[in-house]
Amino acid sequence: MGDSARPLVDGFGRVHRDLRISVTDRCNFRCSYCMPAEGLEWMPREDLLTYEELTRIAQVCVERFGFDGIRLTGGEPTLRAHLPVLVEGLAGLGVDLALTTNGTTMRSLAPALVAAGLRRVNISCDSLRSERFAEITRRDELAKVLDGVDAAIEAGLAPVKLNVVVMRGINDDEVVDFAAYGRERGVMVRFIEFMPLDAQGEWTDDQVVSQDEIVAAIDAVFPLDPVPDDERDSAPATRFRFRDGGGEIGVIPSVTHAFCATCDRVRLTADGSLRHCLFATRELDLRALLRGGASDDELAAAITAEVGAKWAGHQIGQVRFIRPARSRSQIGG
Ligand code: SAM
Repeated sequence: MGDSARPLVDGFGRVHRDLRISVTDRCNFRCSYCMPAEGLEWMPREDLLTYEELTRIAQVCVERFGFDGIRLTGGEPTLRAHLPVLVEGLAGLGVDLALTTNGTTMRSLAPALVAAGLRRVNISCDSLRSERFAEITRRDELAKVLDGVDAAIEAGLAPVKLNVVVMRGINDDEVVDFAAYGRERGVMVRFIEFMPLDAQGEWTDDQVVSQDEIVAAIDAVFPLDPVPDDERDSAPATRFRFRDGGGEIGVIPSVTHAFCATCDRVRLTADGSLRHCLFATRELDLRALLRGGASDDELAAAITAEVGAKWAGHQIGQVRFIRPARSRSQIGG
């Protein structure tokens, strides 16, 4: 952290260092658990933060608060024109810069992203079976996504991780296949518990496949050992190593073992609202401040106040849980 930086601490003593930036709410997939088939009403282009505006907020977070991680997401972030230009600007901030993508554009875009300074990528894929993949995403593009994984590896992105949302009765019979795929390709597969963020509001808790179930299924075929806490980074994934040395998997137990107590993230939506939690029911309109001519001091003060009001954690599964008004693609994954 630079000399002038002061940690961004909330009322529970959590220090924030990680910024998730959504660069667009648009997506070329229509994952059934995320969006309706017809898509959503997209944000008007003039509402989206420009690359200069996004970079300015990132710079304030890095220089004032010592942020050390930035992840670009969406919607599908690679649909935004000239993404490498943004990557180049953010890479100059010297942070751990990452991207979450559905992988469909990796074959064409990965080399330019690497040249611009991107080092690692997470690619989302919820089935290794073509027909099922097409049912889940409403797009017949599994081959393109898997080729995108290979393209990312070939371009030198490392690590390449694969994000799999596990849903009961939909793809929970594939966790072992995914583990085998990860071992074969040298890719770390991260299984994500299904969260109540679908635009349609159809989530129910019996669709959640727990971390314990996922790990037990894989362990029965490929024995696993937990990675000790002191070897873990601040990523929310609980990591498990294959006992035979074949790599590792991660599980993001957002529902059954919420990691709110160690949360170090804030999120910026594509239209410039700062959210202190994926599930926050309030937002700070940074775009209005930016376009109203706010100074860096004023931006930093507004961010400090917003994060200061962060709650202890989301309440999924409890009576007090309130779904956020925006769905995942509108917030940024
Ligand atoms: N389009 C990019 C992608 O496919 O990775 C980035 C955005 S996407 C919203 C980010 C991640 O959120 C994906 O891995 C997606 O599967 C996950 N996701 C979306 N809705 C979810 C939900 N209800 N529960 C858990 N994960 C979800």
